[in-house]
Amino acid sequence: METKDIIFDLRVKKGLSQEELAKKIFVTRQAVSRWENGETIPHIDTLKLLSKLFDVSINTLLGSKRELICKCCNMPLEDSTTSRESNGIFNEEYCKWCYADGVYTLDIWKRYAEIGGWEKLEEFKTQLIDELNTLLNIEGLPVVESLNVLPGEFVNMEYTLPNGEKVKFLDDKQTYLGSQLESEFGGRCFGIVANMDFLLVCSYEKNGENPELVIYKKR
Ligand SMILES: [Zn+2]
Repeated sequence: METKDIIFDLRVKKGLSQEELAKKIFVTRQAVSRWENGETIPHIDTLKLLSKLFDVSINTLLGSKRELICKCCNMPLEDSTTSRESNGIFNEEYCKWCYADGVYTLDIWKRYAEIGGWEKLEEFKTQLIDELNTLLNIEGLPVVESLNVLPGEFVNMEYTLPNGEKVKFLDDKQTYLGSQLESEFGGRCFGIVANMDFLLVCSYEKNGENPELVIYKKR
């Protein structure tokens, strides 16, 4: 959809006339009319006001022109996963797990910020990758080449112990480094999750079903 149709739709959905919308964002009714006719698009400051009023990102107002990804964790950004400032305005650089209320929320960044920041985190990733590739000897596990930042709630799988008991090892609210790799034998996937304290490798079917813990190793 183009900006003109998007603005029209959002305005009508909110039950506002052109006049009423114009008043709320300090422009003339003619300006709104020109946007909806496709003659002009709103100025960036006005886009910010529209974004707040309609609760959609500027990217969405512009017809999702850019493929946005989180600068921290590379997750694709949609309005529902985009972070916001403390005043509710979208911050289209980060996802809501990496940044919220004006601060970086990831514990992983915080811990590394204390000892040297981003470069230290990259160093740590390299070290973890090295450990994963040399310490663990898991049949079918391909060479690990990169690790991404993963919110705990996405990777906190529930494993069934031989006695039928179900256990989870992670914390939904924490952030981990990890990756998913296809088994060299096909069929199952390996999931890797790690942080400063441990390495965990599990395997599961392609859709995440029937997870099994392969190894949990303290560092
Ligand atoms: Zn992110």
